[in-house]
Order: sequence, then structure tokens, then C-alpha cells
Amino acid sequence: MLLLNATYEPLTALTVRRAVVLLVCDKADVVHEGDDLARVRSVDLAVEVPSVIRLRTYVRVPYRARIPMTRAALMHRDGFRCAYCGGRAETIDHVIPRSRGGTHSWENCVACCAPCNHRKADKMLSELGWTLRTTLVPPTGPHWRLLASTKELDPTWLQYLGEGAA
Ligand SMILES: [Zn+2]
Repeated sequence: MLLLNATYEPLTALTVRRAVVLLVCDKADVVHEGDDLARVRSVDLAVEVPSVIRLRTYVRVPYRARIPMTRAALMHRDGFRCAYCGGRAETIDHVIPRSRGGTHSWENCVACCAPCNHRKADKMLSELGWTLRTTLVPPTGPHWRLLASTKELDPTWLQYLGEGAA
């Protein structure tokens, strides 16, 4: 379940239980009904499970906090394309190899296809004469936090996630 801020900015993915608590306590409203008929039952209550809800009160989010780098989020940043040849990316490559002190970070990791990953091995770009097609910057913005924390996105969320999410 997707939780939006009062301003419709995406905040996070929620468990059904947490979402129901927000709805029952009048802290949030349903924005997008669920597509299935799943219901949550507690002692005296049955609630249709929505797919998107929105907080009634604006919550300040510490946007400067660094987005954690996950495989899924890195693939999204690089558009699922190999940073070296532009082919379909399947793996993650460390631009400065870890064996040479490269870090596992947004600034040193790129999406990579299997052939390039194999050819690059533990070499430096200068040794291969390769260049990068992408800039190695950490992404910013609320939808990246969501991408980094969620494995599969509900398609009904996409219209709320803004540019760069899909
Ligand atoms: Zn490649």
C-alpha cells in the first residue's frame, strides 16, 4: 500500500495493518481504491483495502537523508541499461573495482550487462579505454526512497510517483 503526504508526494510503502490504523484513526483518506476485494478484519471492523492513501496532515520528511543503494534502485537510476555499452543491464559493476578500494556506493556502482561485467573484471576504466554513459550521483526525491525500499511496485501507484519512477 502506498502512503502519500498531504501534498500528494509519495512517502513510503505501508503494510496493510499500518494503513488501516491510519484510516481508522482518521489520519488518512483513501485516494485509490484497491483492485481486489481483500478485506482486513479486526475485532469489529472490516475495511476495504485501498492501494493508495493520503495523510490528512502534512509530514515533514528529511529529504537530505541519503537514499540507500539497492540493486533495484540502481537499475532504475541507470534505466536498466549497461553504463558502458547501453545494452540491457543484468548486474552491478563497481567502476573502481572493490579489489582496488572502490566503494559499494551510488558514486562507484553502475548497472552493467553480463559481457561488459566479464570483460571489465577488476580493471580500471582507463586501462580499458572505456567511458561511462551515466553520471554517478545518488538520486534524490521521495519516490527514490520508495523504489529503494520496495521490490515490486503496484502499477496503480505509478501515477502518484511522479517523473523518473517508471
Ligand atoms: Zn555492456
